[in-house]
Amino acid sequence: MAKRDYYEILGVDKNSGDDDIKKAYRKLAIKYHPDKNPDDKSAEEKFKEAAEAYEVLSNPEKRQRYNQFGHAGVNGAGGAGGFSGGGMNMDDIFSQFGDIFGGAFGGFSGGGSGRGGRRVNRGTNLRVKVKLSLKDIANGVEKKIKVNKHVSCHTCNGSGAKNGQFETCRACNGSGAVTRVQQTILGAMQTQTTCGSCNGEGRIVKDKCNTCRGDGIVREEEVITINIPAGVAEGMQLSMNGKGNAAPRGGINGDLLIVIEEEEHPELKREGNHLIYYLQIGFPDAAMGTSVEIPTVDAKAKIKVEPGTQSGKVLRLKGKGLPDVNSYGRGDLLVEISVYTPTLLSNDERKMLEQLKTSKNFEPNPNKKERGFFDRMKEYFD
Ligand SMILES: [Zn+2]
Ligand SMILES: [Zn+2]
Repeated sequence: MAKRDYYEILGVDKNSGDDDIKKAYRKLAIKYHPDKNPDDKSAEEKFKEAAEAYEVLSNPEKRQRYNQFGHAGVNGAGGAGGFSGGGMNMDDIFSQFGDIFGGAFGGFSGGGSGRGGRRVNRGTNLRVKVKLSLKDIANGVEKKIKVNKHVSCHTCNGSGAKNGQFETCRACNGSGAVTRVQQTILGAMQTQTTCGSCNGEGRIVKDKCNTCRGDGIVREEEVITINIPAGVAEGMQLSMNGKGNAAPRGGINGDLLIVIEEEEHPELKREGNHLIYYLQIGFPDAAMGTSVEIPTVDAKAKIKVEPGTQSGKVLRLKGKGLPDVNSYGRGDLLVEISVYTPTLLSNDERKMLEQLKTSKNFEPNPNKKERGFFDRMKEYFD
């Protein structure tokens, strides 16, 4: 299913400021909030959709990648819907964006999880590099990569507790925050800070799990399958939501960021979505015409060189370039021809050329000259 544009979902335009985006999301989140629409699946979908749009557009780095590469830039990896597939559930949405509701839902129930205002740990993002050939890029590719990362502890199911038992933190009474009252010139000032005893979690592990020593996470190697869309380019970054490091004691996973590296093709040069091949032919072939086999990204192609071809001539093989990562468009394969001038001549050859030199047909003709490099650049790469 095609994903809707994030700006469209929130009903804001591309130049909207952070405040407008936040306001727009808040409106939708309240409208489709599950507390207001119990057992309404379509409202829940809309609620999730808005959260996904907000998650991207409220993050400057993700928003920029989205503007540049569309959905592929922020969750193209991992196939269908980085969010629903990658694991942002209702709890994640509440704990990540809970603050946006302000007082609208009275302290915020956390979708029944009873987390209240307590802090939820978040795993760190992981960054991996993936090297791709031009062929991979042309067709899109599935890559399996080994990642050494924090995963949820199998013994305690990520809770960190031996028997899954917790105690309410006594220092903060389970709220995760402590309030301090300071006397200042202006009177008593209240400040709220994260509780140091429980790290803001509001509860403490009763008996620590022996495997993870109460952290709820262990280091492990995991093989992750990444679906890389066709048309990506060097330096582009994809992200898979929730595939990064697991968080201590059952928080939200970080993201896996995939940085694309492009292997240089031995014969084809890339320029955006276009490919360039420099073809050199001998002088007799240029004068009499020939047919030549040239490389393309997938196989070989046969092209015809017309009699009387000049150096600098560019043949355009439409659609034989790379697909656009954001649309159905495809670049071209441009073949630039140069004519080889012999650098060694036998005595006989020299004699033949002396004879040809006197022929009018062999005099240079400015009318037959090909356009220069910069002229062509304008046409293809504007
Ligand atoms: Zn505490
Ligand atoms: Zn454990």
